[in-house]
Amino acid sequence: MANDHTNIPNDLSAFWMPFTANRQYKKAPRLFTAAKDMHYTTADGRQVLDGTAGLWCCNAGHARPKITEAVQKQVAELDYAPAFQMGHPKAFELASTIRDIAPKGMEHVFFTNSGSESVETALKIALAYQRAIGQGTRTRLVGREKGYHGVNFGGISVGGLVNNRRMFGQHLNGTLHLPHTHLIDKNAYTKGQPEHGWELADDLERMVALHGEETIAAVIVEPMAGSAGVIMPPKGYLERLRALTKKYGILLIFDEVITGFGRLGSSFAAEHFDVQPDLITTAKGLTNGVIPMGAVLATSEIHDAFMTGPEHMIELFHGYTYSGNPVACAAGLATLETYREEDLFNRADSMAEYWQEALHSLKGLPHVIDIRNMGLIGAVELEPIAGEPTKRAFNAFLEAYDKGVLIRTTGDIIAMSPPLIIEKEHIDQLIGTLADVLKSLD
Ligand code: PMP
Repeated sequence: MANDHTNIPNDLSAFWMPFTANRQYKKAPRLFTAAKDMHYTTADGRQVLDGTAGLWCCNAGHARPKITEAVQKQVAELDYAPAFQMGHPKAFELASTIRDIAPKGMEHVFFTNSGSESVETALKIALAYQRAIGQGTRTRLVGREKGYHGVNFGGISVGGLVNNRRMFGQHLNGTLHLPHTHLIDKNAYTKGQPEHGWELADDLERMVALHGEETIAAVIVEPMAGSAGVIMPPKGYLERLRALTKKYGILLIFDEVITGFGRLGSSFAAEHFDVQPDLITTAKGLTNGVIPMGAVLATSEIHDAFMTGPEHMIELFHGYTYSGNPVACAAGLATLETYREEDLFNRADSMAEYWQEALHSLKGLPHVIDIRNMGLIGAVELEPIAGEPTKRAFNAFLEAYDKGVLIRTTGDIIAMSPPLIIEKEHIDQLIGTLADVLKSLD
């Protein structure tokens, strides 16, 4: 039940909110009650400009009629179909549509319900594939420091963010971590890809020397690390990682849960950086955030190992009740059609320079120590308050919200990833408000 003056419910106690300091939040709750295109409406009736596309997912903006109508129609027509040993047409249609915009060679699509599930699925496919081709000793999985690969056990094991790991015991055995490439001392204020750090990929050689190539199944990286604070791959880094993984028979997985579906101005980061992985994980922008859905893209080489391999490997023993849910598929099809009709990936590309210059105009403002950008994503890194890490950036988030723009923070980094329909005046408002906030921060 809502209280009379606002849309804030009277009882906030039951909902245990994810990734939220519940004690603090519930003292001063922030609630959205509606959204349209570039804006949210708050419970007290204010308009807030969406500078983050929700959680990096509403790439076409909010409440787009084509997607809404497709979902409504699908719920009424076929709400659910069993996901195993049965099908429905839209799952096949969506898989083909994704394949048609995917980087060349990514021929097959496995549906999940989230980014975390896509990661678990890709890691399991990698392990099963190595087994199917007679490389069953390859059981180690390699991630990277500062990597974010969702919150399930595989994902936190290959992930490299301490807060996501330290509460939860020992994780998966046999995971290794490459060094991160967040080299602010060398690369600060680089526009696009930085110069320094490509050689950090060579750490894979050290792992091979120490553990033996025949023990390593796959390497997973975000081609552009989002949740750790928008960290661009140094020039040559992904190419080097690809060359080394190929050399040692190790699969390369790109976690494109954020970068998939247009964020960098191409359909996928693999295309943007012109580096071909073996598996790609996606979610978020696939359905514009409207219905939970993810997908793993695989090469024919991987897929066909299960079609032609030994009899006991003919089926991948993995899947979810909601894999390829019809309503999610309808949302996905309508979303991809919206991206295509409005040419939104190219639009992100054509707005990228204006975005870059606006962001970098914040250089020199109090507490700013780095600015990073690519496509329609950007970050402003702040000097932490001594002894109180994350506080300054979080205060910036609260101030910006009060001033009518939604940004996101991770540690002491402000991250922004607006819907790809953004106009120049929205960029001016977003960056102008952030400038005001930075000037007034302690
Ligand atoms: N991988 C990456 C790269 C992500 O950015 C995220 C979410 N931000 C995930 C996986 C997990 O996605 P989800 O929250 O949908 O499980």
